[in-house]
Amino acid sequence: MKRYRIAAIPGDGIGGEVISAGVEVLTALAKRQGNFTLAFDHFDWGGAYYKKHGRMMPANGRDLIKSHDAILFGSAGHPDIPDHITLWGLRLAICQPFDQYANVRPTRVLPGITSPLRHVKNRELDWVIVRENSEGEYAGVGGRVHQGSPLEAATDVAMFTRAGVERIMRFAFKLARSRPRKLLTVVTKSNAQRHAMVMWDEIAVEIAGEFPDVTWDKMLVDAMTMRMVMKPQTIDTVVATNLHADILSDLAAALAGSLGIAPTANLNPERTFPSMFEPIHGSAFDIMGRGIANPIGTFWSAVMLLEHLGEQPAADRLMQAIERVTADARFHTPDLGGRARTIDVTAAVIDALHGANS
Ligand code: ATP
Repeated sequence: MKRYRIAAIPGDGIGGEVISAGVEVLTALAKRQGNFTLAFDHFDWGGAYYKKHGRMMPANGRDLIKSHDAILFGSAGHPDIPDHITLWGLRLAICQPFDQYANVRPTRVLPGITSPLRHVKNRELDWVIVRENSEGEYAGVGGRVHQGSPLEAATDVAMFTRAGVERIMRFAFKLARSRPRKLLTVVTKSNAQRHAMVMWDEIAVEIAGEFPDVTWDKMLVDAMTMRMVMKPQTIDTVVATNLHADILSDLAAALAGSLGIAPTANLNPERTFPSMFEPIHGSAFDIMGRGIANPIGTFWSAVMLLEHLGEQPAADRLMQAIERVTADARFHTPDLGGRARTIDVTAAVIDALHGANS
């Protein structure tokens, strides 16, 4: 019997609600499968912790989770704390030192969900966006001087390294090759950004040479937004920089029906450190505590977590259960135009786990 230890970090806002739903579903699934166990350790890091301790996580926080098999993360953000503190103090404080350089975001229109794109059918929108997650525009390089004076100046330098670009390109080509269409779009902006983005393009060509069976093309990020809306069926796997993919994947989540559904994985492909799985949405304080947060994004993230652990049959069972539940409008939360509550969706997925695959 395999035993996995999972670090659960609910964070802020609706993070607590969706992560407790995720833990419930994963626990039921492990019991149903019977060939592995999941032990969860809970960490109360985030905005409330910051208010008490002046930091988002303890100084030895990473030591406490570095031996876990995976991390299930909710959301970090607090109305009273600047976003750059909550982001850099928790999520990025884990992602960067744990070298989770590949951020993977699948997007599909699940059964029963309506895309805002008229006429789009389920299979016509089936994408995976790979986001470079360790450098680029969010490398943290820059500075601010002469604050409060008219001479004040600030810079954010986008830093791209050959090693960083090579590894994300290789990861994306590999992922594209593993999918049926073997199709990759490399997003760029090398017309306006003539240094790093030109290197990005050159490295794409080099790495493409290692993957002759993958069909690929290159697209400027502005044109890519149009293509996502106008010709979604021409896209399969996408690789883009930290900033570009951040924006494109929110667009993708909206086109798939709701931010509440979309999952993401922050992967350390070499497995030197644990990888982290989280819904794409933020802390959504406007609906916090009302019991109406859509937990599907967390459940789908749990599917990715199980795939990463190598528990493919369990991952397939959970995905089928999710699709069964989204197909039934009685289990749509208000963000999907329904009236279901978080607990209704959670209970329905657990019920479906027992039906799916059996
Ligand atoms: P943050 O600052 O942490 O990114 P935010 O509130 O600015 O958080 P999101 O949480 O990403 O941004 O969400 C934007 C809106 O989408 C929310 O106000 C909420 O109404 C809706 N939303 C997001 N996630 C969910 C969810 N899981 N279920 C239901 N509605 C959601």
